Amino acid sequence: MIDTDNKSEVKECAKCIDLLPLASFQDRKNSKDGKDIWCKACRNDYLANWRKQKFKEDPYIYSLYSSVHNAYYRGQPDYTVSPYEKILCEWESPSDFMNYLEHNKDWMEDWKKQVDIYLETGDLNDKPSVDRINPNGHYSRENIRVKPLGENKLMGASKPCEVWIIKNKQMSSAEVVDVPSKKDLKQILIDRDIPYSLIKNIDEGIIQDVGNNTQIILQSKDGALHKSEKPLYRLETHYQRFLVNLDTNQEYLIVDEVSSFNTGGIRLGRK
Ligand SMILES: [Zn+2]
Repeated sequence: MIDTDNKSEVKECAKCIDLLPLASFQDRKNSKDGKDIWCKACRNDYLANWRKQKFKEDPYIYSLYSSVHNAYYRGQPDYTVSPYEKILCEWESPSDFMNYLEHNKDWMEDWKKQVDIYLETGDLNDKPSVDRINPNGHYSRENIRVKPLGENKLMGASKPCEVWIIKNKQMSSAEVVDVPSKKDLKQILIDRDIPYSLIKNIDEGIIQDVGNNTQIILQSKDGALHKSEKPLYRLETHYQRFLVNLDTNQEYLIVDEVSSFNTGGIRLGRK
């Protein structure tokens, strides 16, 4: 036990029972020592799990609740992160905002539709958000709509996709499976015993190992690569030229070159 009166700069976390510096605890106005009883790591863990659980219980309401909160805070006068410096929110509180949307039949219909797409694809780009129609306008009754988080992804779920299935890293003989829409991807992966949580890496140009000496690349048909900031692969070209004596089959190496460059992902094209 730590006596909080002895001015010691450490405190025991009530969850992980680690002794930690006071800076590892969030401020809490109403507590005895002005600090949370759990350390930040434990608190964040707990909140992340709580959010996941809530979403599972009622994905429609919980996702709306968290999106409304974000929108409300972005619409406060003291929120000065660009591009929200001048954006205001018509509602007095997050619960007023929530209450209005929850009882707006058209809104809830659109919202549920987009949540269903998100649940189907598991792609964060498909997660619905409270969007402003006119980007210079406020969060107000006339200026909000349901929009997926990903840019230009309104048609995201119906986008045709490809799964490149690679055996033993032999990409040159990869098999391409056409998927009519992103919504169907999950079933196609399940049918092939591939974990569908990988769908989140679509168009990232990542070669994903799925066991059984099998790798896959997920890409949308006419999409573009979302290249990673940091290089993920090095593309190497080995170039050799031989002269072969036709009588003796003796080989003479004439050119032997290796060139390479780094790339933030790969996009495969059909021959
Ligand atoms: Zn802790």
